[in-house]
Amino acid sequence: MTLPAPLRTSAGTTLAAVLAASFGCATASTTKTGDSRSNSSDKAAMAGVNALLAPWAGPWGGVPPFGRFKPADLKPALETAMAENLAEIDRIAADPAAPTFDNTIAALDRTGHALDRAIRVYGVYTSTMNDDEVQAIEREMSPKLAELNDKITQNAKLFARVEAVYSTRDRLDLSPEQQRLLWVDYTNFVRSGAKLDAPAKAKLADLNQKLAGLYTRFSQNVLAEEGTQLVLLDDESQLAGLPAAVRDGAAAAAAAHGKPGKWAVINTRSSVDPFLTYSTRRDLREKVWRMFIMRGDNGGEHDNNAIITEILLLRAQRAKLLGYPTHAHWRVEDQMAKTPERAVALMEAVWKPAVARVHEEVADMQAIADREKAGIRIEPWDYRFYMEKVRKARYDLDQNDVKPYLQLEKLREGMFFVAGELFGLRFSPVTDGSVPVYHPDVRVWEVTGSQGKHVGLWFFDPYARPGKNSGAWMNEYRSQARLEGEVPVIVSNNANFVKGKPGEPILISWDDARTLFHEFGHALHGLNSNVTYPSLSGTSVARDYVEFPSQLLEHWLETPQVLNRFALHYQTGKPIPAELVQKIERSKTFNQGFATVEYLSAALVDMKLHLAGETRIDPRRFEKETLAELGMPSELVMRHRTPHFQHVFSGDGYSAGYYSYLWSDTLSADAWEAFLEKSGPYDKAVAKRLHDSVFSAGNTVDPADAYRAFRGRDPGIAALMRNRGFPVPASAAAPEAKPSPSGGR
Ligand SMILES: [Zn+2]
Repeated sequence: MTLPAPLRTSAGTTLAAVLAASFGCATASTTKTGDSRSNSSDKAAMAGVNALLAPWAGPWGGVPPFGRFKPADLKPALETAMAENLAEIDRIAADPAAPTFDNTIAALDRTGHALDRAIRVYGVYTSTMNDDEVQAIEREMSPKLAELNDKITQNAKLFARVEAVYSTRDRLDLSPEQQRLLWVDYTNFVRSGAKLDAPAKAKLADLNQKLAGLYTRFSQNVLAEEGTQLVLLDDESQLAGLPAAVRDGAAAAAAAHGKPGKWAVINTRSSVDPFLTYSTRRDLREKVWRMFIMRGDNGGEHDNNAIITEILLLRAQRAKLLGYPTHAHWRVEDQMAKTPERAVALMEAVWKPAVARVHEEVADMQAIADREKAGIRIEPWDYRFYMEKVRKARYDLDQNDVKPYLQLEKLREGMFFVAGELFGLRFSPVTDGSVPVYHPDVRVWEVTGSQGKHVGLWFFDPYARPGKNSGAWMNEYRSQARLEGEVPVIVSNNANFVKGKPGEPILISWDDARTLFHEFGHALHGLNSNVTYPSLSGTSVARDYVEFPSQLLEHWLETPQVLNRFALHYQTGKPIPAELVQKIERSKTFNQGFATVEYLSAALVDMKLHLAGETRIDPRRFEKETLAELGMPSELVMRHRTPHFQHVFSGDGYSAGYYSYLWSDTLSADAWEAFLEKSGPYDKAVAKRLHDSVFSAGNTVDPADAYRAFRGRDPGIAALMRNRGFPVPASAAAPEAKPSPSGGR
């Protein structure tokens, strides 16, 4: 079960991250909130705006000012901070002194602090508290933030200074981290159009504006259909087959949607998947499945097809303007893969064995259906249902036997244990109210390292609620850095577990437990960061590398050290029986055909959409034809169909980049074997190398070099294929990791 959980992380997906990654942060200058940018003279409003802009108050270098502002304050705060940031940038550009690393490159990393603070809080609201008011603010602000990014990267005087420093880089006696920062900044400027002439720059800015607006509309359309659509179950006969926990969740969901006393399957994965797995009502499975896969594709005001056509066209035009054959070439160039061809080659190496496995899985399922005289042919809404039957028959493993041992809060303690064993981190709850939160469901832990040294804060926001994005992700509220004194990190993990009855433990599936560990891996990538420059901190790494630490961490869930101590039965408190663990172990590669093909089909469609260039694309037709060409088995669908593919269309984030999960998983499978080749998952020496070369390094080294430093060699594909139970090809060529232009220092 090594499917790269396709979950977005904050890294590289939000504009906040883009801005923070490119331009770090800024001097904490006095905020000017009373100027003409805000028409309101309301003192209270000013207090809220000020709270968003001012250096954070409170313990541990300050904490986010939740509770001290209203959502309406976000707009004036962002506008003030953007103006301030532009003024800072202009001062650097107009510096009469000759350009140096310190007065230009490091100076950029010392700007934008107020904007960084405001934008990260804004990011929390747009992802977890996205009600009508916040959505309106987002629609207005996202083009403005895109515009700011363009104003900075297109500032000719500023770029001339960056270029001047870059051209003398070999004579500057810079540290390796400084050389890396210089290369990253220069590359970002060039890739963002800094070398274009004035008319081309204007055209580029116009394209970015239009795209920003479309991304917001795309995302809000998906949110609307996920938040409002549901399948209402009126009577108990419609609950046939559902375990008690799923029934309870459905009851809670109905109540939350104003239908107390009934049951509802809401239009999110955490509600839909369990229903498809257990419901014996085939008619309702089909109904629920259709609702879920049609998100954004229903015609009417929330249909995303026309928006996608326009996004693809604008992206193709932008790529051409920037001198690239396609959007895919532009996006992949600064990734570890470097070219779309290398990414496609890896995907194609895995595709055929995965499809072959799907055909075997379907045959197994069909055999069971035939034995039961079900009189059906396996359809996509049957896959999860019959897959469970095969799992039971072949491995004697019932997911419902596992779930009572997977208590959300115990597993959280298990994650803390792993962080302690691998990295020496300790977590203690902050319960004295010294760290405000944005919602009562959110909790906070202080993280300390050796000798009790403060490392940072970890926020945990585990439950689904209206206005919260679906899925799970990690978010960084403040990045570690040392440029202007020690700045401790603040990260959060977010999930969408259905909140059960008050006081009862929340039992989660094995897949959800993996996801929990996955997101915690991102959090540890942020928490372990040990860099000087904020732009290079923690998870600010290439997209096809950022999932490596998180996917690697998933493996520790299955270690006996975690299972025996933390997978405890919610009623008896007894650890999960060894026999059950063995069954889980034996069934590890079970259903990898399904998991790999549903992921890879989405990744291949993403890449092909962005390799098509300036063709006018009908998303429905393109998806259908591409899948037919690939030989997509008819018994399953893409994990994310095009009209709701948030990774790809709610921002540039994972566009032409969904392959990243497979690329990263090639690394994580290979890295896991590094532990197994020594004394096992808790081998101290391997853990130390992992910390030093990967988890603490941020973007201070080229990822290929970082990996080689950890592993002593380049990654290969063999571990990935073994891990999924696919045949290992004779020439198990890896995504051979070549150093980028910045590498090899
Ligand atoms: Zn992730």
